[in-house]
Amino acid sequence: MTTSTATPAAQNAERRTRAAELIASLPTGLYIGGEWGPSADGATFAVENPATGEVIAHVAKGAQADAAAAIESAAATQKSWAATPPRTRSDILRRAYELILERQEDLALIMTTEMGKPLAEARGEVAYGAEFFRWFSEEAVRIDGGHTTTGDGANRILVTKEPVGPCILITPWNFPLAMGTRKIGPAIAAGCTMVFKPAELTPLTTLALTEILTLAGLPAGVLNVVTTDDPGSVVETWMDSGLARKVSFTGSTQVGKLLLEQASRTVMRTSMELGGNAPFIVCPDADLDKAVGGAMVAKMRNMGEACTAANRMFVHRSVADEFARKLAERMGALNVGNGVDEGTQVGPLVERKAVDKVRTLVSDAVERGATVVVGGEEGADAGYFYQPTVLSGVDPRSDLMGTEIFGPVAPVIPYDTEEEVIEMANNTPWGLVGYLFTQDIDRGLQMSSALEVGMVGLNTGLVSNPAAPFGGVKQSGLGREGGRVGIEEFLEIKYLAIPRT
Ligand code: NAD
Repeated sequence: MTTSTATPAAQNAERRTRAAELIASLPTGLYIGGEWGPSADGATFAVENPATGEVIAHVAKGAQADAAAAIESAAATQKSWAATPPRTRSDILRRAYELILERQEDLALIMTTEMGKPLAEARGEVAYGAEFFRWFSEEAVRIDGGHTTTGDGANRILVTKEPVGPCILITPWNFPLAMGTRKIGPAIAAGCTMVFKPAELTPLTTLALTEILTLAGLPAGVLNVVTTDDPGSVVETWMDSGLARKVSFTGSTQVGKLLLEQASRTVMRTSMELGGNAPFIVCPDADLDKAVGGAMVAKMRNMGEACTAANRMFVHRSVADEFARKLAERMGALNVGNGVDEGTQVGPLVERKAVDKVRTLVSDAVERGATVVVGGEEGADAGYFYQPTVLSGVDPRSDLMGTEIFGPVAPVIPYDTEEEVIEMANNTPWGLVGYLFTQDIDRGLQMSSALEVGMVGLNTGLVSNPAAPFGGVKQSGLGREGGRVGIEEFLEIKYLAIPRT
């Protein structure tokens, strides 16, 4: 796309033009029964570029009638789709994986333009998102069962696994591709049909992904996509339809709880990947440079807009000031800007509300005695920027200790004893992930087991991987995505009792 002789400014301009062309070429309708079309009442909603505040597209606004058509399409296709050979489903996923990688740059440009993350991170998410399709293409042909005998020897027990049935899939805006492929991949592999609703802030990546799945040979009716900025009415229509057998949701704990209530009406299977409030613990014996490197990843991936983001940095008092200083040096040196521009390391937050939330949380911490070591200001541009910020000496009673910051702010809280830090780390209703830096393997294992979380990064700031079981405990959710267990969320066990004589 770019030539090596073009100046950085010319390359940036060329990327913006290319992104606009790509977005203009996307389908903007609903995808139901293998057909693209407008919503029943023709309504649309606007999608913004958070780096500029400009409207970049209008997409179909689905409502109840569209939701009903989508779930009926999924239900009507379930039987034939479940009967396809696993290898057929596997091949479709494999082709889609390859097509995503062929279009990595285009998908990354679309993603950055609608969501804000720097292009390098968007490319990384495309590779990560594609990998879920490769992983589940491999799992599709390995769905297992079991055969045993009852204790008295009278019966054979034959255990088989079947697709759970039509699924409702709902995703957030922060990982517009990977949160979708992490659900669509195992659903396809298991033989489930789907209705899918991407987040209203970032529907464009999903539209591009839907085109790819069609090209990869996914039959009509298996995946039905409804975009809308009125999620409540679309999703409740699906939940109460009596046609869906499962809901898989990634998003806030607040919406997750609402969906759990709705799921109870029809006793639907649920997978919930909800919010986090990750502790990041630095022990006195940690390799401090490694810990700072890990903190940069755990805090700054996605501008801090990740469920896995390190929200509370507990650092042993003996190294807390040095840690904060080193972290501030790294954070203060980051380039903030439009994610499509060369050299940008930190993009905008996703919307104005997000900047307001971060500003309020930082003010509260400062009023309670925290020091701003670096940052602490929002951007002056039209987009939704906030500077990478380190706060030291944070009072544990500050509001940001009990709220997902979802922004580039690292609060450093000094601690004295192991017992105290574990108690503070667990003092939250969430339990998605925790990070721990120590060079003492025994201490690392003991503290990992004491943390009330579904995942631990032990001397690393990154846990996400398609081969690993991702998920949380407490109010961070139910079930796991990815890994060997990921497909089980989309399978139902059936047991046959067979007399031996
Ligand atoms: P959100 O809960 O506001 O929205 C998530 C999805 O739910 C969107 O598609 C939205 O349209 C939909 N939704 C909103 N209201 C709804 C309703 N009444 N009924 C049905 N659906 C509704 O969350 P968000 O702001 O998009 O995403 C950020 C949240 O997601 C954070 O809490 C973050 O921690 C969490 N998250 C969790 C994981 C994980 O794997 N655990 C991964 C990414 C994000």
